[in-house]
Amino acid sequence: MSLEEIKTRIARAEDAAGRPSGSVHLIAVSKVQPLERIEAVLDQGHRCFGENRVQEAAGKWPDLMTRYDGIDLHLIGPLQTNKARQAMELASTIHSLDRPKLATTLARLAQELGACPDLFIQVNTGEEPQKAGILPADADAFVQTCRGLDLPIMGLMCIPPVDEEPSLNFALLGKIAKRNGLTGLSMGMSSDFESAIALGATHVRVGSAIFGERVKPG
Ligand SMILES: *Cc1c(COP(=O)(O)O)cnc(C)c1O
Repeated sequence: MSLEEIKTRIARAEDAAGRPSGSVHLIAVSKVQPLERIEAVLDQGHRCFGENRVQEAAGKWPDLMTRYDGIDLHLIGPLQTNKARQAMELASTIHSLDRPKLATTLARLAQELGACPDLFIQVNTGEEPQKAGILPADADAFVQTCRGLDLPIMGLMCIPPVDEEPSLNFALLGKIAKRNGLTGLSMGMSSDFESAIALGATHVRVGSAIFGERVKPG
């Protein structure tokens, strides 16, 4: 598939859902992709990218940012507190705020740096023990905690279990967001972004459908 094709499918899904065209942000997930594939997408004018590891992002994006204007980098993977500062300096948006300790660390660093990326709280909608994220039952309280820390919470993010109907997870995430007055929904990947858009996604995170299969696992 190609970037153009994905953009066309997003536009169609927006239209089918009766949503304004351009209301969904496409995050091109470039983790472990060869540099030439990333440059090809940049050369087509796309500027919004996602990485799931701070170290990997720090290895390639500062250079690309000197060569291409207006790059908007999103961190979508688990964030260790000792990498939080670096993440905040690189990314416009962090989609993986998933625990109280990270919230307090981000709040302290935001004070120190005088700025904070936009934040999405990751919710473990499938309640999988091995997966990061706040449990659905704890989400309302955690949103309050983050607001109490003055963190800029834009919305919620989820990664549905591989063996579950993703739309159930998307609907649950939307419900939790709505009752907390949050409008951002980071949900939908290569295989399910259209159903995510139907259920209100504002940010879809699409990797392999744009860049091709990842060479290494990521
Ligand atoms: C890798 C990744 C994606 C993109 O996955 P694809 O199936 O390649 O589209 C989206 N979100 C997160 C959190 C990821 O780690």
